[in-house]
Amino acid sequence: MGKENNTSAGKMNILDLLRNILPFVLPYKWLIGVTLGLTLIGSVMAQVNAVVLDKAVDAINELIQQPSFSWSSATTILVTISVILLGKELIGALVTFFQRYYGERMRILVSRDLSVSVVKRMLSFRMAFFSAEGNETGKLQSRIDRGIMSLSNTVNNFFIEILPLFTSAILALVLMFMANVYVGLVAMCIVPVYFYVTYIQAKRMKGGRRGIFGGHQAVSQSILNIIESITVIKSFNREQIEADRQAEIQRTMTDLQLSTRKQSYFFNGLKSFLEQIGTVLIIILTAYLVLIEYPGMTIGKIMYHVMLFANVSAPIRQLHRIYDDMNDALIYAEGFFGILHADDEVEDTGHYHPQQVKGDFELSGVDFTYSNGTQALFNVSMHIERGKITALVGLSGAGKSTIVNLLDKFYHPDCGSIKLDGVELSEWDTQWLRENVGLVLQKNHIFDGSIEENIKYGNPSATHEDVVKAARQAYIYDQIMQLPNGFQTQALQLSGGQQQRIAIARMFIKNPPIIFLDEPTASLDAIATEQIKASIDAIKEGRTVIIISHNIGQIIDADRIYVLKEGRMVQHGSPSEVYQQGGVYKDIFDASARSMNVDKIANTITNK
Ligand code: ADP
Repeated sequence: MGKENNTSAGKMNILDLLRNILPFVLPYKWLIGVTLGLTLIGSVMAQVNAVVLDKAVDAINELIQQPSFSWSSATTILVTISVILLGKELIGALVTFFQRYYGERMRILVSRDLSVSVVKRMLSFRMAFFSAEGNETGKLQSRIDRGIMSLSNTVNNFFIEILPLFTSAILALVLMFMANVYVGLVAMCIVPVYFYVTYIQAKRMKGGRRGIFGGHQAVSQSILNIIESITVIKSFNREQIEADRQAEIQRTMTDLQLSTRKQSYFFNGLKSFLEQIGTVLIIILTAYLVLIEYPGMTIGKIMYHVMLFANVSAPIRQLHRIYDDMNDALIYAEGFFGILHADDEVEDTGHYHPQQVKGDFELSGVDFTYSNGTQALFNVSMHIERGKITALVGLSGAGKSTIVNLLDKFYHPDCGSIKLDGVELSEWDTQWLRENVGLVLQKNHIFDGSIEENIKYGNPSATHEDVVKAARQAYIYDQIMQLPNGFQTQALQLSGGQQQRIAIARMFIKNPPIIFLDEPTASLDAIATEQIKASIDAIKEGRTVIIISHNIGQIIDADRIYVLKEGRMVQHGSPSEVYQQGGVYKDIFDASARSMNVDKIANTITNK
């Protein structure tokens, strides 16, 4: 659990929260105005009972003390009370309805805006943000979901609970003071005691609530891991281990939740008791003032003050809940606004935007370290010539994909320089650079959508004919046409190899001058590999191609190869030159040939 996120800057307080959330509320000024108006009417309505009861008790008291009791006077009093109370109830119901409706409207609108902004913001972040510790998919998702929920609820609570309750409390206090200064003072002195107790409660419980928040993130992440690895879990019969692990996380959460609840119930009991003491004090004081016939103090005033005091203490009864919600909001806001304000995570861009991109890369003395401290590249220098095919060769983990990541500006080197067409990559307009690069990875992400939509992702303005052409180039057209829904089939239903070819078609439709292929045929069968090779051969004319592959058939076609070993560039030259040099490349090449049983294959082919 423990670690929540590493992007939030320090701990948030209520002022920070307000400052952060204000820009999302201010656009709805008219809603704020209407809600404030309703709040004011509602607060006045909340005091009507006390005033009516005060007047009614005194009027009835006066009536029964008169020697000639008249039913008509009593009826007038009762009718007046009924009309006022029912009328007030009617207005109150209308006010509550509109208050809740507009409050909810505000919550929905703020929630929408928060969600749109955070997604937009996240899309602008550099890759390093997504691979940083604490930003794993599940955790990030939980931070966003809970942040939006908690913040929009805070806005809602503020307008339909906090504001009406506090306005009514202040109004009630003012009325108490106006009726009698002493009673007003007693009521006012009790209030800080409640605040103090609530403050202590909130302080004690904050740690627990933070823990629960971290726990929720851990639970999301672990459920996500289970779903993603379900095949492995089942094939190794590790269901029990996973279930036990889940139970352990949940057990820690349960303990924490129970102890937090226990504290919460203790403090709530204490506060109810203190509130009752307050009411008793008010009754004793007002009764005493009536008994000594203090000017203006009648029997009606006892009821008046007790009822008003109920209004004063109403928000206090809710205070712990408001405090809890606020504390939740503070914790979640830290995580949420941590994402929204992670300015240093925003991808930087230069302004170099040439008409034509040639595709000539020059790396010199490049070091690179991932945010977890793994140094992936050491003093790498290489020249990737325009219009040529360059293969990056090396064992897994040698740093080949890292080079592609750097060339696409996904990450920045620690030191050294990377130039494209003679200009530092950092000076390039990042979007323009990527517009000119086609990237096909070993595992390409197919989006939830049709085959056509997935191919068109490479060029949203492409026509259906372009899509068909790209599908043909990627040798997937015939297979698509055999599907009942053709190009409208859901792409996620396709096999891994078919999805890979959809991704290749996406690159064809983009038609960029620079192409990075990171093991593009790793998940394809032999026939498909040959077909893809043929189509890649067809488009590599006049383009800069960088290919990472374990397939020697693809490597020996390269104009130039760079061999990497443990992050260092150890050999380079044409395939035959590098082979002659011996070393890593020869080892990989020979092992690859042996594993393919090249001799027997050759015999089989010649004896046919
Ligand atoms: P290759 O493509 O040659 O298999 P990579 O470039 O993917 O190798 O990886 C080089 C090194 O960098 C490896 O040690 C790998 O563990 C590490 N690495 C790769 N990606 C990340 C990442 N996102 N965060 C931390 N380390 C990484």
